[in-house]
Amino acid sequence: MRTLQLADKTVPVIGQGTWHMGEDRHQRQAEVSALELGIDLGLTLIDTAEMYGEGGAEEVVGEAIAGKRDQVTLVSKVYPHNASRKGVAAACERSLQRLKTDFIDLYLLHWPGSYPLEETVEAFERLREAGKIGRWGVSNFDVSDMLELSAFASSSGCATNQVLYNPEERGVEYDLMPWMQNAAMPLMAYCPIGQAGKLLSNRAILEVAERHDATAAQISLAWVLRQDGVIAIPKAVDPHHLELNAAAGGIELSLDDERLIDTSWPAPQHKKRLAMV
Ligand code: NDP
Repeated sequence: MRTLQLADKTVPVIGQGTWHMGEDRHQRQAEVSALELGIDLGLTLIDTAEMYGEGGAEEVVGEAIAGKRDQVTLVSKVYPHNASRKGVAAACERSLQRLKTDFIDLYLLHWPGSYPLEETVEAFERLREAGKIGRWGVSNFDVSDMLELSAFASSSGCATNQVLYNPEERGVEYDLMPWMQNAAMPLMAYCPIGQAGKLLSNRAILEVAERHDATAAQISLAWVLRQDGVIAIPKAVDPHHLELNAAAGGIELSLDDERLIDTSWPAPQHKKRLAMV
């Protein structure tokens, strides 16, 4: 599996998402086991948020990483409505408790909110100085938000921007992705397999999948990861999905594969507002 540098750590380019985990107690054991299997398969970057299952997902993660915290790079996110000076510190403390750890590697602002960004960044920096987080970053920030941020935070301060990116949603290629590449900032791609929706029955994706003896989901992951500086965080509870996702790291698409996928979803030719789910 390829790796890259994120939050001062070497991480695999494929990690594990956790949205919708921790919502149903009957699913809890399967979710914990899935994350454990993912870690064993090398998907050691885990993405979660205080929002997911209103803390439930962080609890699932805490159970899965018990005894193996050192093997894992942990990413969590603060709600924008908690992103005040005091609110960030308190939210981080609650997340640490649910995750049963004393350290979050990368702590993100989930989406732009109403508190002044400068205040949120100051709170992140305090957490860093206190040794509670390694680095901080943002999510769902468009270029204009990144410019606002870079007016007072050095580009080396913000470790990543986590955004929606898959073959169906490639608007970021027009401006945000080049901006981030220029700032040497890795992009974390969420919903990298389009939440297992229509993408998986797309004709072009299926044809490319056949060429590689792979599945549609694996081709979507390989497509997201075809450029350097991108990390994909698919969420999977089904153990077979986890094995397929880990193996997708070895698939390299040809230019011809990419051209075929372009016929379904062409590269953007003009600015589009950042898509979110
Ligand atoms: P994904 O694109 O990761 O799709 C998840 C769905 O795909 C699940 O139903 C899963 O099923 C299925 N799946 C996983 N692997 C395979 C496979 N190999 N073949 C077929 N189906 C598969 O969507 P998410 O919305 O979960 O996004 C990924 C992660 O990104 C989230 O979990 C979250 O951590 C993060 N995120 C961040 C956001 C933000 O605002 N910052 C917004 C949305 C997501 P099953 O579970 O049954 O295996």
